[in-house]
Amino acid sequence: MSKQTHSFQAEVAQLLHLVTHSLYSNQEIFLRELISNASDACDKLRFEALGDGTLYGDQPELRVRLTFDKDARTVTVTDSGIGMSETEATENLGTIAKSGTKAFMAQLTGDQKADAQLIGQFGVGFYSGFVVADKITVESRRAGVPPEQGVRWISGGAGDFEVESITRTERGTSVTLHLREDAAEFADGWRLRELVSKYSDHISLPIQMEGEKWEEGKEKGEPGQMVKTGEWETINQASALWTRQKKDITDEQYADFYKQIAHDWEAPLAWSHNKVEGAAEYTQLLYVPSHAPVDIWDREKKAGVKLYVRRVFIMDDAEQILPRYLRFVKGVVDSADLPLNVSRELLQESRDVKTIRDGNTRRVLTLLEQLAKEEKESVTATADKRDDTAKADDAVAIKDTAANKPKEPKYATFWREFGAVFKEGLGEDLANRKHITKLLRYASTTSDAVDVSLMDYKARMKPAQKAIYYLTADTLATAKSSPQLEIFKKKGIEVLLMADRIDEWSLSYLNEFDGTPLQSVAKGAVDLGDLQDEAEKKAAEGAAESVKPLLEKLKAALKDDVEDVRVTTRLVDSPACLVVKDGGMSQQLKRMLQQAGQKVPDTKPVLEINPEHALVKKLDGSVHFDDLAHILLDQAVLAEGGLPDDPAAYVRRVNALLV
Ligand code: ADP
Ligand code: MG
Repeated sequence: MSKQTHSFQAEVAQLLHLVTHSLYSNQEIFLRELISNASDACDKLRFEALGDGTLYGDQPELRVRLTFDKDARTVTVTDSGIGMSETEATENLGTIAKSGTKAFMAQLTGDQKADAQLIGQFGVGFYSGFVVADKITVESRRAGVPPEQGVRWISGGAGDFEVESITRTERGTSVTLHLREDAAEFADGWRLRELVSKYSDHISLPIQMEGEKWEEGKEKGEPGQMVKTGEWETINQASALWTRQKKDITDEQYADFYKQIAHDWEAPLAWSHNKVEGAAEYTQLLYVPSHAPVDIWDREKKAGVKLYVRRVFIMDDAEQILPRYLRFVKGVVDSADLPLNVSRELLQESRDVKTIRDGNTRRVLTLLEQLAKEEKESVTATADKRDDTAKADDAVAIKDTAANKPKEPKYATFWREFGAVFKEGLGEDLANRKHITKLLRYASTTSDAVDVSLMDYKARMKPAQKAIYYLTADTLATAKSSPQLEIFKKKGIEVLLMADRIDEWSLSYLNEFDGTPLQSVAKGAVDLGDLQDEAEKKAAEGAAESVKPLLEKLKAALKDDVEDVRVTTRLVDSPACLVVKDGGMSQQLKRMLQQAGQKVPDTKPVLEINPEHALVKKLDGSVHFDDLAHILLDQAVLAEGGLPDDPAAYVRRVNALLV
């Protein structure tokens, strides 16, 4: 038997350091993680055994056993699952395969409290054992291999671990934690039972502990003590939560189950639990988390919904059962129809799976619609309450307002955390576009919060208004101060402001809402149609006529940089702005694509000028005409958050004028 020492992968060493230093106030989650691994291992065996029944050998039972030794200060978690070979132990317990690890590491702040929160969201898994142990021994044997091919893995959680082969009669894995002195409390029957009921009650296999009973001291005066009875007792409910009746499950149990499957510390925002009968028969339990995971932008990330078939776990990254844009949803789907040996290929073609996917999508959308409705009601309710308190006497009013300080409505939380991902649905899920558009929320010129729905907008439209106006920009701040908004502000017309990277793209799928077209205020000539009165139109035409010669001169001076120069009525305080032709690519999208290193079509913007502006009036006849023309253009670029093509030239020109 040869012992081999290996070093941990660099990321593991880093993670271990972090885990042990920031999780001390949440030590107890180690048990949840180890039991979760034991349960996964049993699920894996059950799945592999579908194809090869001999894997069970003479031990058909799948279970987890917890033992402890107070004197030796150890806790051991033993499972009869799939087990690990020597190579698997070396790889699985020495490297991190998770895709989000890098993103996760990058988000760490060094602030222990914040980091602990993040680690909790990420799910530290096996390594959380080192929060309570200064040494971990793992012994394992893979199902279906002879006893001599067992493995022992030992580590102190610092830089390296040891592996050696052993003989192990039982299949499966046992993980022994050698507890630190300050974690001695966990080598205790009561404490372990309490933790199992707190974190692992919903695990669908039996978790067992040896029974204990109180024994009085034999001699008079000798203290009594707990002794083990030698009988195994199942200490969890061991029934899959989703198979129980809704009425028998408390909110707390729903939340605990979520925390278990999502490795999250925070309770979920909302959930939906249904038994569906019809074209396909299945149970769904779907959760919307209350915060986005660190790797939400990783579109390759594993889907969060686990697929079961008649309570047998099949896979936990079944992307076929929910569309990508709902990848933040966590939960369980248990099908009664699919074959147990369902493969990924089969999943792709199965009509049942398609039915389940459609059903899940609709459920999530309905759940979100409910949250949105509650939000509206809660806003009205709070407003009512304020009215009431205003009538009451002062002292009471002050107390009441403090106590009733409204919590953020759930839908607002949802939108803040997942709105940008959800918008992908506009392009991805054409069948549900109607539902999706109703759930969209934007900032606007009349609301600072990102809470304006297209329906709200329509309800506030001016009678003569024919379009839903919007503006996209790199940031909300840039959008808000954009010159393109000036005429809209002056006329009191609301404009939606969009600053998510995805907006430009998703808007190409959203040409109209409920019969009203969406119109960018930065595209095409401004046409306020009936919103402008006759006098205004006349004045604009007159102004256009009088500056014609100036336009020609500007066109000549800027011919390399702009497609056209024209007069506009959209500006009130600014001298000029840039717009793109109708249907053209917006300047903002162009910048985004350029930053991403992509080729963009070589189109030039249109420069629009405000004939009423002092600078424009001075332009004609100025000896600095050429410089002023370029400055006008560069400033228009700056105002929309871009950079002049030649910043140095811009500075030179401005300085020349200043001097
Ligand atoms: P995760 O469970 O998210 O994969 P962990 O850190 O909890 O991450 O575990 C790492 C890996 O170690 C697992 O994916 C699995 O391959 C292996 N492993 C851990 N515990 C066991 C066990 N009890 N039986 C078999 N394999 C295990
Ligand atoms: Mg795990």
